[in-house]
Amino acid sequence: MTHVETSANGSDTRPGDGDVRVDTFELIDPRTGELVGRHPVHRAGDVERAVERARDAARWWADLGFAGRRKRLAAWRRLLVSRMDEIAELMSAETGKPADDARMEVVVAVDHLAWASRNAERVLGRRRVHAGLLMGNQTATVSYPPFGVVGVIGPWNYPVFTPMGSIAYALAAGNAVVFKPSEYTPGVGRLLGQTFEQALRADAGSATDPGRPVLQVVTGFGETGAALCRAGVDKLAFTGSTATARRVLAACAENLTPALIECGGKDPMIVDVDADLNAAADAAVWGAMANAGQTCIGVERVYVLEAVADDFLERVVERASAVRPGAEPTADFGPMTMVERAEVVAGQLRDALDRGARPLVGGTASVRPPFVEPLVLAEVPEDSTAITQETFGPMLTVNRVPDVDEAVRRANATSYGLGASVFSARRGEAIAARLRCGMVAVNGVVTFAAVPALPFGGVGDSGFGRIHGEDGLREFTRAQAVTRQRFATPMPVMSFSRSARAMRALVGLARARHG
Ligand code: NAD
Repeated sequence: MTHVETSANGSDTRPGDGDVRVDTFELIDPRTGELVGRHPVHRAGDVERAVERARDAARWWADLGFAGRRKRLAAWRRLLVSRMDEIAELMSAETGKPADDARMEVVVAVDHLAWASRNAERVLGRRRVHAGLLMGNQTATVSYPPFGVVGVIGPWNYPVFTPMGSIAYALAAGNAVVFKPSEYTPGVGRLLGQTFEQALRADAGSATDPGRPVLQVVTGFGETGAALCRAGVDKLAFTGSTATARRVLAACAENLTPALIECGGKDPMIVDVDADLNAAADAAVWGAMANAGQTCIGVERVYVLEAVADDFLERVVERASAVRPGAEPTADFGPMTMVERAEVVAGQLRDALDRGARPLVGGTASVRPPFVEPLVLAEVPEDSTAITQETFGPMLTVNRVPDVDEAVRRANATSYGLGASVFSARRGEAIAARLRCGMVAVNGVVTFAAVPALPFGGVGDSGFGRIHGEDGLREFTRAQAVTRQRFATPMPVMSFSRSARAMRALVGLARARHG
């Protein structure tokens, strides 16, 4: 719930522009309707100036080298941990999520920050590669210098964890970052920027040091994000919906700006005949309902093998019936952050029921904005929107399948391909290998997101490129190849003065090796 109005007291200013007045927007707590904060709406000019300022900062940051950056990122990490409760409290106020969910998010994000800064040198530092027989007189090396200035556009559902997947890895690789958080979580975004600035100042030994704009935060709506795509950043990392991703890519295409795209999902879970049904039911309900189902890698569809379907469903119903949304910090999950999204859940529910789905937990009365109570549907037609479109609410569909082949076929039958989970005692990894998606948890759910060494990202409508892990570090760099001649070859072939004898030797070598 946001709205824009001109700041009455002029207290919000353009970044770096003294006291120029800007429009601001207010942010409302979805649980209570109370005002949480007021933030600037940065216009295209503001965003361009931020990117311009980031240029010098990017050079300074890159010149610090891996060790210099590691030291400063460690200081930021300590600060984030020491201010965890404050960050979590603001996150709860902006999104409505319970206190422990917010804290858990900070914990995992900090773990990624640690991994990225500790591993950047190993992954990105210059290394020697084999030059091969033809170029045996050369030394060959590859390194991964930073792009320069990276733009990051984030969503609201995990406002620390998700953008940190880009910010931490881009910074560790040596880039400056201009971050545009979601209009639903601008306060959390600004707090990330402020804490980073504070860490740099502490390192400079002065609380009043003007600091370096290595991580800047611009706030506003879609237009601010669109301006960032066009502001001349060297790479744009976007996380959000598939519809917005198309607009982001169109804007990036104007300057041939490379983009990393992390979008939504329709993640399936497959429950095999030999699965631990208690564990599978627990994971299905938590994976579907946690954070009010507003999780890109949340479980939305379960395909359970017929032989164990009744036992599994009984356990799912028992668990889902015991889970309740609420406004209190200890609630199982909170309200829909975008309250109007409750209508999307209601629409998918109506469509599924009209087509013959069987409600096992909840029904149309469960949608009472801003809250949506747990919904579990069985026998949901595969062409209903509850199966084909991202729900992003606490609704789980469970369909029976005769065998694993059919489970895999249906799991792969959407345009998305982000995450998945498989519960199976004997063939979990074999089933995982058949799924068209970026990440799979076997006998668990969402676990891959908390392993910093693993890449995170999707295929199809879920996007492309990877955050996290070695791939995530490389994503924010340009590979640079260098060859250095060690000695002159007696028979040069890359010269107009090459001899017929040298060419005969080269062709002879090729025939001997590959003919
Ligand atoms: P959204 O697409 O509405 O907005 C995302 C961001 O894009 C916001 O900051 C918004 O202001 C900005 N934006 C809007 N229009 C823009 C434009 N024309 N140009 C540039 N930026 C623009 O998404 P949301 O509602 O904030 O987030 C929910 C979606 O994000 C879901 O689909 C969810 O699955 C997905 N998500 C994906 C991941 C992942 O890692 N794959 C993680 C979290 C969320």
